[in-house]
Amino acid sequence: MKDYQEALDRLRSSGLLFACPCSRKELAQGSHQHGCLQGRVSPDAEKVAWRINTRDLPVVSIPDIVQAEPFSINLHDAMPDFVVRKKDGRPSYQPACVVDDVLFGINTIGRGQDLLPSTAAQAVLSRLMGYGDLFERVRFLHHPLLVGADGTKLSKSAGAERVAGFLGGLKLDELIELVDAWL
Ligand SMILES: [Zn+2]
Repeated sequence: MKDYQEALDRLRSSGLLFACPCSRKELAQGSHQHGCLQGRVSPDAEKVAWRINTRDLPVVSIPDIVQAEPFSINLHDAMPDFVVRKKDGRPSYQPACVVDDVLFGINTIGRGQDLLPSTAAQAVLSRLMGYGDLFERVRFLHHPLLVGADGTKLSKSAGAERVAGFLGGLKLDELIELVDAWL
């Protein structure tokens, strides 16, 4: 928690962080209330989330081990004003992930293409938290996702048996063919 707190404090002085007491319902109505974007809410107030203002961030270009062209992510479209500290004071997934990867010396990450916005957010946070360019430290592989016949993602939440049944029914040469098709 001490490492997370120090990283969050560096974000706090980045100029892009704002404190936000808005409820999900308020945000669902389309915009921030309470003047949070104008900095009228203290980050030290009770029950406020800390968010990064994504409005003026440049498009993030994400180099990939197997893709010829980098991915481009507009964070304001993909993850507007993402949370870095939750209302209970704990760090959110994005900064915790960056800090953990630095502390453990992670240099290669493979994840699904559904997590490209997370990679973009972590690239922004890496710079703001003083860890430098994420893509000089870590190389990424973002793989496509397996989809079912109905086009939806195969995932544990969609039914573990469905995934187990799908993979279990594959012969080795079919699996190799599938992986080749990905790459
Ligand atoms: Zn707000």
